Amino acid sequence: MSEKLYIVVPCYNEEEVLPETSKKLKEKLESLIERDLISPESKIVFVNDGSKDRTWPIIVELHKSDPHFSGICLTRNRGHQNALMAGLMECRNRADIIISMDADLQDDIGAVDQMLEEYRKGNDIVYGVRSSRKTDTFFKRFTAESYYKVMRMLGVELVFNHADYRLLSRRALDGLAEYKEVNLFLRGIVPQIGYDTAIVTYERKERFAGESKYPLKKMLSFALDGITSFSVKPMKIIINIGILVFLVSIIMMIYTLHAKIVGRTVSGWTSLMVSIWMIGGIQLLCLGVIGEYIGKIYSESKHRPRYLIKENLEDEEEQ
Ligand code: UDP
Ligand code: MG
Repeated sequence: MSEKLYIVVPCYNEEEVLPETSKKLKEKLESLIERDLISPESKIVFVNDGSKDRTWPIIVELHKSDPHFSGICLTRNRGHQNALMAGLMECRNRADIIISMDADLQDDIGAVDQMLEEYRKGNDIVYGVRSSRKTDTFFKRFTAESYYKVMRMLGVELVFNHADYRLLSRRALDGLAEYKEVNLFLRGIVPQIGYDTAIVTYERKERFAGESKYPLKKMLSFALDGITSFSVKPMKIIINIGILVFLVSIIMMIYTLHAKIVGRTVSGWTSLMVSIWMIGGIQLLCLGVIGEYIGKIYSESKHRPRYLIKENLEDEEEQ
């Protein structure tokens, strides 16, 4: 018996790419079914992340025209990671394997075959890794690659140049379900699940229509989320700075006492001002970082749901 594969695709304002994407994915799915690599009940599930355009009507249309297409509609925009998680968790009990990918098909769907091959070899998680970033702008490439390096320095386990194109087995998905955190950074969580893993490389293409749904502001907050969700090193660095400043202040104390005894106390206004400003600045910085972590604790302690489902075409079918 071949396994049931679900392809989960988060979509936010993707009306321009959906017709083409669905066509390509359907071809892929049919060819895999024909070769008996996956079960004929396999599906493509689009997760509508509160799109403001015609994304959801298009998904409903696709579902009506072909049972291989299905859709989940979130009540509002919850961001890429939450939309993806919604898809993974809702399909977890229906599929044997889930492959997640972006709606713009920048990730080569040809790699799906290799992913399945690696799965058959006994790997529960298969990461899709970009072999190059030629098609990305210099800015995107530079920021993304430095980010991976900084993350590694901070002790966060990440797969280099791997985005959210990956295969997860049923077991791995059950593992993922145990991570209850609200600040989701899947790239950091998945390597923590464990099991046997493999890597499949592919060439990343350009977005064929529409524009990136990750403007700089979203990218920065995503990057910051990744760091503060997985690493406490920034806090440790600050503690070290604190110790250093304390040592310097002791030396300063000895120096000023000595100056007083010797009788050279008139001058010193400059150094006083400099130290006041410096220590003030460092304190503010420390407070900022501590605040960042307290913010995290605050939102985690509320246990808010990651997403709420408005409609699930899969459920309707079963009735
Ligand atoms: N996306 C989403 N919710 C959002 C932003 C993006 O579901 O709030 C989806 C989007 O539809 C796409 C994927 O996340 O399928 C990746 O977005 P995009 O291709 O714009 O990112 P980039 O490739 O530029 O990093
Ligand atoms: Mg993209």
